[in-house]
Amino acid sequence: MALASLPEHPYPLPIGRSPIGVKVGREKPFREPGGPRTADGFEWQSQGRSSFGEVSVADLESSTALDTSASPAPSEGRWPAWTAIFASGIAPRTLARRTTHVGLRSAYAVHVAGILLAVAAVIFVIFLERLASALDSANLSEICLHMVRDIQEVLRYFHARPIVWTIRILLSFMGIEAIYLLVALVVMSWGAGDEPFAVSVRSAVQRVWLHTPHVAIVILTAGSVIILVERSRVFWPGMYGPAMVVLTLCSSGMWLLWALLGVVGAPRPSLPSDLPPMCEWCGYNLTHIPTDGRCSECGRPVIESLGEGVRPGVAWQRREVIPPLRAWWRCTIDGALRAAVLGRTVRVTGTGREHRVFLVTHLVLVFLAAAFGCACSIIATDGASGPEWEILLALPSLVGCLAVGLAVGIAVLAASAVGIAFQIMDKRNLMRASMQVAAYGAGFLVFWTVVAYGTVVGLVMIENVLDDLAWALGYPIDSLAIVLWCVPNLFCLVAYFSLVARGTAAARYANR
Ligand SMILES: [Zn+2]
Repeated sequence: MALASLPEHPYPLPIGRSPIGVKVGREKPFREPGGPRTADGFEWQSQGRSSFGEVSVADLESSTALDTSASPAPSEGRWPAWTAIFASGIAPRTLARRTTHVGLRSAYAVHVAGILLAVAAVIFVIFLERLASALDSANLSEICLHMVRDIQEVLRYFHARPIVWTIRILLSFMGIEAIYLLVALVVMSWGAGDEPFAVSVRSAVQRVWLHTPHVAIVILTAGSVIILVERSRVFWPGMYGPAMVVLTLCSSGMWLLWALLGVVGAPRPSLPSDLPPMCEWCGYNLTHIPTDGRCSECGRPVIESLGEGVRPGVAWQRREVIPPLRAWWRCTIDGALRAAVLGRTVRVTGTGREHRVFLVTHLVLVFLAAAFGCACSIIATDGASGPEWEILLALPSLVGCLAVGLAVGIAVLAASAVGIAFQIMDKRNLMRASMQVAAYGAGFLVFWTVVAYGTVVGLVMIENVLDDLAWALGYPIDSLAIVLWCVPNLFCLVAYFSLVARGTAAARYANR
């Protein structure tokens, strides 16, 4: 990039104060909602907060790689809120894109309908199960009669103590509501953009509520498949039945998680937050400092904060210039070991979603590590007698799926928690940065999985030593094993959260 081509005063005269890093009392530069533009006619980029005369080829390459524009196509029509009841299971992402206009009240109505549908689905699956188990002996009318009697029994319970049951039902409902809000807060970072914090929260809550009917669809599908598996012994021997049930539950859980993340992360139009240009290093408001000048607070050149080469994106985002495998490996190492360095390169603006793909590649490794570790511990426990094939088929898959769910959960939880903390401290929504740091730190999650299952295998192998130790200390061996397992895992938990916090802190004054 040519320094000579930089305009002298790219920003308008100061009149206010910076929302973060309140080093000087000045007002934000003027930006129009539709086409961001400063008062002196100097254009702001949607990808970054500043634009300078000349852009190098590498910059262009990196910016095209970054800008995988995710805004919904203008031709896409709007769907009314009630379509969520059918579409949430079939096309969750399309539904999320086409229902961005739906208000919170309508979304809540769909959410309540979804809960009622889920209850109905549970009752229907119970009916199906009875139908299947009684198919040989009883006829349909008898089964229906049984169901009617059951319902009468439930109503009789309710009539006996109506107030107690009303309170119980209300408490359960409030519990479900609390869980939904918590889930929305945890997954919020997955879909958060460079926007006001309230917009991120509102969008997450709206989308999680609209997605509720999917639970009913999952209950129906999984229930039917499990009943079918238990009935059709013809296709596989009885011993594989339980394994098939476990695998069905695993895939249902993964389906729900995948759809939920897809819904929360689906593109939506958003207005970037309005921030003045800041010094990358100290947060000083650079509004009326010339681009070839220096920050009045820390003395760093302004070009290091606002130049085109600043925040080029992480290695994984520059796969067009760096070989993919090398980019992947570099990003894995940077994300896990040099979070602060990585945090200096991530872009807080824009809509790129490469960090999600990066996270998914590591989730495959998390699954393999957990499943392999579980299989090893089964073999280590069973020893010479040899493991049962049924267990070896079902348990590692279950453990692998749980590990993937947990890894995703911890990543979004860390990103959201750190994002909320920075919102409180700096009054800036940094969740897009914290989610990227959490995703690019996925190498650490793989390491953590290896530690978690390595500890299990290790503890199984030193069982005799553990037994002596437990006897000497006077503790039950199980408690001792759990404590020994928790120590390295708690350490990993703290290390991962601090990694996300350090990386995000390096992006707190980012301009692009
Ligand atoms: Zn500075």
